[in-house]
Amino acid sequence: MGLVVQKYGGSSVADAEGIKRVAKRIVEAKKNGHQVVVVVSAMGDTTDELIDLAEQVSPMPAGREFDMLLTAGERISMALLAMAIKNLGHEAQSFTGSQAGVITDSVHNKARIIDVTPGRIRTALDEGNIAIVAGFQGVSQDKKDITTLGRGGSDTTAVALAAALNAEVCEIYTDVDGVFTADPRVVKKARKIDWISSEDMLELAASGSKVLLHRCVEYARRYDIPIHVRSSFSGLPGTWVSNEKPEKPESQGDQQVEHAIISGVAHDVSEAKITVVGVPDKPGEAAVIFRAIADAEINIDMIVQNVSAASTGLTDISFTLPKSEGRKAIDALEKAKGGIGFESLRYDDQIGKISLVGAGMKTNPGVTASFFQALSDAGVNIELISTSEIRISVVTRQDDVPGAVRAVHSAFGLDSDSDEAVVYGGTGR
Ligand code: ADP
Ligand code: ASP
Ligand code: MG
Repeated sequence: MGLVVQKYGGSSVADAEGIKRVAKRIVEAKKNGHQVVVVVSAMGDTTDELIDLAEQVSPMPAGREFDMLLTAGERISMALLAMAIKNLGHEAQSFTGSQAGVITDSVHNKARIIDVTPGRIRTALDEGNIAIVAGFQGVSQDKKDITTLGRGGSDTTAVALAAALNAEVCEIYTDVDGVFTADPRVVKKARKIDWISSEDMLELAASGSKVLLHRCVEYARRYDIPIHVRSSFSGLPGTWVSNEKPEKPESQGDQQVEHAIISGVAHDVSEAKITVVGVPDKPGEAAVIFRAIADAEINIDMIVQNVSAASTGLTDISFTLPKSEGRKAIDALEKAKGGIGFESLRYDDQIGKISLVGAGMKTNPGVTASFFQALSDAGVNIELISTSEIRISVVTRQDDVPGAVRAVHSAFGLDSDSDEAVVYGGTGR
């Protein structure tokens, strides 16, 4: 029996009962002979509540203090979980990200892990403990400040520890039975996927399927760590995510299936759209705009430039970015206005993105047409489009997203005809 890393998300430890339930599950793994490292998220919606609190105090809090605040959420759950395990008669020790050796760069609120030195975790395990690690946080290599890894970052902590400790599997416990063909909160007829390639999962995660964070999948792919996404509320096998398809996935028996054309439909309502109106249509303008955005350390997603009106020689450039970075982006562009020379800025946070993902798309030319037909049949207006080899995404009005997701899911024959997808907990926030 080897070492397993188990990660429990906020909905799994939302209250004292949840913490006790999870503690029992962890103890089971230990009793089965595993060395167990647990990564835990903040309880329920604690992180959102801390963010709301910070915003009431300051509209643009300093990154360092913001991170210090947010890491408090995970410290609460790690200590309570260790107490609950001890109460069951087993040894457990909790560690902050910094104590667990999670070393990051110094970009506050979305730091990247650059090294993991889990010496104290190893020692704790060797002494027979269950090690509980606070997810989503680390310490910066140069300044030794506390950092956070971006929303949903506990998934990344788990995979990074699994890689550093050479774990046999990284189990991600959440409030649904695995990765589905769409968000079960939106599509009741979504189907659970038994196995999905890291490549497809990466694309789903990057397109907004928050069941796994894309950085976590990226990390797992690089270090070849198999992930098992499953519910902490049921005993059912979940979804395996790995680079190579296992010979016989646990839940699949002898059945051999071809790689699906479509893996799933993802949606994302966490982005906003900025339109830079009246940009002179000459070389170098886009470079100045996106340099200003990059210097503010803002990641952007889709970009569209309109054809310029011949009479004015002016064009509009639109791009999407996380809503949480909207204010910073507007500030950066206003500051750079003199050097760019645009007319005005438009900010729209009522958008949503719908993406269809699947490696089989490359070789099936009809997919794009069927996707747009489904959106048209559902009466959904498209504002932006972007494509990759294995994905098509569109931006629509946010209110249109649920209907659009269901329409596309049905149109590609993904609806299940049996069980309704179960959501065991969480608020979907
Ligand atoms: P946790 O608190 O465990 O980290 P998250 O809320 O981050 O949980 O992620 C689980 C949620 O992800 C589910 O409750 C579900 O609403 C959402 N989700 C989005 N897309 C998918 C998908 N394709 N499959 C499963 N869940 C999905
Ligand atoms: N608590 C953090 C968040 O809500 C990290 C996580 O849950 O993974 O984003
Ligand atoms: Mg999560």
